[in-house]
Amino acid sequence: MQKVGYLKSIHMKIVFIYILLIIIAMQIIGLYFVRELEQTLRGNFQTSISDRVGLLEFSAREEIIKVRNEEDLTVQQSLRSILYGLDSYDIKEVRVIDANYQILATSDISNQSIVGQRSMDESVKLSITAATLQENISIDSETRDRIWILATPIIYQGEVIGSLYIESNIENVFGQMNEINGILAGGTAVALAITIILGVLIAQTITRPISDMRKQAQAMAKGNFSRKVRVYGNDEIGQLAIAFNHLTNRLQEAQSTTEAERRKLASVLANMTDGVIATDRKGRVILINDPAIRLLRIPREMVLNRPIISVLGIDSAHSFEDLIHLKESMNLDLSTQERPFILRTNFSVIQKETGFVNGLIAVLHDNTEQEKIDIERREFVANVSHELRTPLTTMSSYLEALADGAWKDDEIAPTFLQVTQTETQRMIRLVNDLLQLSKMDSRDYDLNREIVNFNQFFNRIIDRFELSKSQHVTFHRMLSDTAYYVDIDTDKLTQVMDNIISNAMKYSPDGGNIRFGVAVQENMITVMISDEGMGIPPENVNRIFDRFYRVDRARARSMGGTGLGLAIAREMIEAHGGRIWAESEEGYGTTIFFTLKVEMGEEGEWD
Ligand code: ADP
Repeated sequence: MQKVGYLKSIHMKIVFIYILLIIIAMQIIGLYFVRELEQTLRGNFQTSISDRVGLLEFSAREEIIKVRNEEDLTVQQSLRSILYGLDSYDIKEVRVIDANYQILATSDISNQSIVGQRSMDESVKLSITAATLQENISIDSETRDRIWILATPIIYQGEVIGSLYIESNIENVFGQMNEINGILAGGTAVALAITIILGVLIAQTITRPISDMRKQAQAMAKGNFSRKVRVYGNDEIGQLAIAFNHLTNRLQEAQSTTEAERRKLASVLANMTDGVIATDRKGRVILINDPAIRLLRIPREMVLNRPIISVLGIDSAHSFEDLIHLKESMNLDLSTQERPFILRTNFSVIQKETGFVNGLIAVLHDNTEQEKIDIERREFVANVSHELRTPLTTMSSYLEALADGAWKDDEIAPTFLQVTQTETQRMIRLVNDLLQLSKMDSRDYDLNREIVNFNQFFNRIIDRFELSKSQHVTFHRMLSDTAYYVDIDTDKLTQVMDNIISNAMKYSPDGGNIRFGVAVQENMITVMISDEGMGIPPENVNRIFDRFYRVDRARARSMGGTGLGLAIAREMIEAHGGRIWAESEEGYGTTIFFTLKVEMGEEGEWD
């Protein structure tokens, strides 16, 4: 915050106001007082002069009109003696002039030469001609003092017989005025000095709490709410300080609540599995949580402030307006060649009560698994329908032929019936397999586990196949004499091994070899059944455990397979805690491996 200059501060303003008030007050008082005083002094001076002028005028008139004898003094002499007797500090000079403007006498001893001369003074002339008193103030040319000039007509029997000219020293009055002005100025200066000191002190009592509050507000802006403003009194500023402290507390509470809410929100956003993106009203990203960064695989700096439509990669097909009006969720396909990746995105608009759109929130959810399941489910339904429709179509056409009369034909009828029977059995197998898979999916089954010697169990199954085999294949048993015990559901494992061995026989050429082996590693046995059949193309090897997957559909179906055998096998082996996989080389043969946990290695323990 900008610092307030001392001259611009309230402190100085208050002091200035006091000074101005004092100056104005002193000026008004001074002006009125001085004017009144000047008038009084001047009045007093002029009254005192006028009183004496009256006396002089009388004496002068008497002398002028006096009838004189030879032995009597002349009018000039008598007037001179009167004027010489006049001893007054404030009267500078007195002249008596007759009606012809001739100077009859002067009180100025050093200036007696002017007696008998004609007076050139305008006021004298005017006083004689107009018979009125003339007065004015002028400056003495020698002393530069102000003098009051008075020319009063000497009237006898209504006729002007002369004029009395007086120069009085009025400078004293102005001197007194100056002294008083000086006293007033000194008083004002002292008053101002006291005012400045008092002003500074008084202003401090106002500005200190304000300055405290300013510092407190600055600290609050930086997030420091621990300070408190000192309350100096119970006046308005004190009340303001109390209110300010109250405000600080409320603000601190509000801030900590907001902070807690912000932290809560941040942790919710960071810890949720879904990605969240928030935009401003122009559709630019203002917030993105970590899961959204992970899901979109873009660095945060590249997302913030960018339009959401380009962040989501939908700028070619959609505008921000479209997203605001979008009612349903949108699936974003971000799949790469290596892996599928589908993001389900839901948009919700942040709107004010007025309907003004403030922004948009996008919630991203990894929907890859769900999509995969949906696709698999659709494929599964299509596969089941297809698998059931094929035998049903075959049966329908054969039964139609029989109904059309073929039943009478002794040669064709048994063959046709045989076909429908085979197809029916295949459908039963298929339905049974599906039921079994559905049970396994819903975990609606129990494993009837028992501990068996695996080699014995394996040999018994191979024996069964050896006895019933119709084609020319040779069996090689590569089983050790060591007894390995496994905790298995023998029925289910028999089913698994039947499927693998029958597949090996199905896809083996005449004269082929089928090898059976068991290897032990730590506490696991790996069972291995290999053939020298047609093999499986490398890209399909892992898919043979998928439901309904067949490398060569037509061929496999013609061999009576449902395409579910290995899928069931995988479910069962995994239910036993093992793993199943295949290795194959096209044209050379296939090996199916699966693992089982060994329960007891010590020979003879369970025999
Ligand atoms: P099916 O009932 O069709 O045999 P499976 O689930 O048992 O179904 O096998 C799936 C597919 O895997 C078969 O259709 C076949 O194409 C392939 N397959 C399984 N075992 C072998 C094998 N030993 N040699 C070659 N292909 C095999």
